[in-house]
Amino acid sequence: MTTASSGRPQPRPGILDIEAYVPGKSSAKGSKIHKLSSNESPIGASPKAIDAYRASATTLERYPDGSATALRTAIAQRYGLSPDRIVCGAGSDELLQLLASAYLGEGDEAVYSQYGFLVYPIVISANGAKAIVAPERNQRTDVDALIASVTTKTRIVFLANPNNPTGTYIPFSEVKRLHAALPPDVLLVLDAAYAEFVRTNDYESGIALVSEHENVVMTRTFSKIYGLAALRLGWLYGPAHVVDVLNRVRGPFNVSSGAIAAGVAAMEDQAFVERALDHNAAWLPWLAAEIAKLGVTVTPSVGNFLLLNFIKDKTAHQADAFLQERGIIARRMDAYGLPNALRLTVGDEEANQAVVVALKDFMS
Ligand SMILES: *Cc1c(COP(=O)(O)O)cnc(C)c1O
Repeated sequence: MTTASSGRPQPRPGILDIEAYVPGKSSAKGSKIHKLSSNESPIGASPKAIDAYRASATTLERYPDGSATALRTAIAQRYGLSPDRIVCGAGSDELLQLLASAYLGEGDEAVYSQYGFLVYPIVISANGAKAIVAPERNQRTDVDALIASVTTKTRIVFLANPNNPTGTYIPFSEVKRLHAALPPDVLLVLDAAYAEFVRTNDYESGIALVSEHENVVMTRTFSKIYGLAALRLGWLYGPAHVVDVLNRVRGPFNVSSGAIAAGVAAMEDQAFVERALDHNAAWLPWLAAEIAKLGVTVTPSVGNFLLLNFIKDKTAHQADAFLQERGIIARRMDAYGLPNALRLTVGDEEANQAVVVALKDFMS
């Protein structure tokens, strides 16, 4: 028996070293607020998904289908996959957590890229493992640095592609080169939260790699292009043995009926996804070009957001305060080690115009 020295329950060593994830702010001054801090969809969710969610309200007394069969089937049909190889989760965050809890423990290491998604170090540390950070070059994943960070203790490599908050991506040939360099017992987690937005020919989300290997999984989300962040819905495609593990450790009803219903309708409404894509394809380059003209260095992005790098006498903190005065909420990047950057989601037309006007006034 161990005795707690402080006389109250204590978490495992390392838990209290975790910096809690700080979500994007959701309030600011001004009558009209433009929340551009969490990469949410400026065009909302599919009306069909909203209808399906409403309809699910008539059976709230019933537990959901614990295996989310309708949703896995809809996803499988859309992507030509086997539904047996899909696991749904309460956001892809839950799936990342489940992977970490199943495959990491005391004495293990997990690798991620310098400006990688901050959920990775949280789930790594929460499970007693050590987070190893591979340096980036020009705010872009450096596959050689990731490979160099792998040791005999490495159990997982997390890769967001495209990455948040940088918006940069690596071509599929680079993902394959990374995978080829990993020992077969290291799990490669491809977080493809922004895959739908990417329009370059050299990008792939990783489905082919998952299909061909025993040590690769891909996670996807309904929070971004589908505009269903409030429902907490994500999915994973993986080899059968990993799917089996996740089905053992997940909560038996981890995805709610409303989320399943809305997810099915959203997956089947690809015309709506096209609209969201067209909106982003029109506004992302416009915003990037207009902001770059003002003397702010904009990291090239293929997502639905931009990383803005400010300069010494016009700092990101000052810009953030200035934008907030105009009702525009951006995301500070201090927690990512980028104190002089802000991340800004592509908004609707009014928000995008307001951002450019505000930044012009700020920079002049
Ligand atoms: C937004 C985001 C997710 C998705 O999180 P959910 O839990 O599905 O809402 C996952 N990975 C990255 C890199 C993201 O930016």
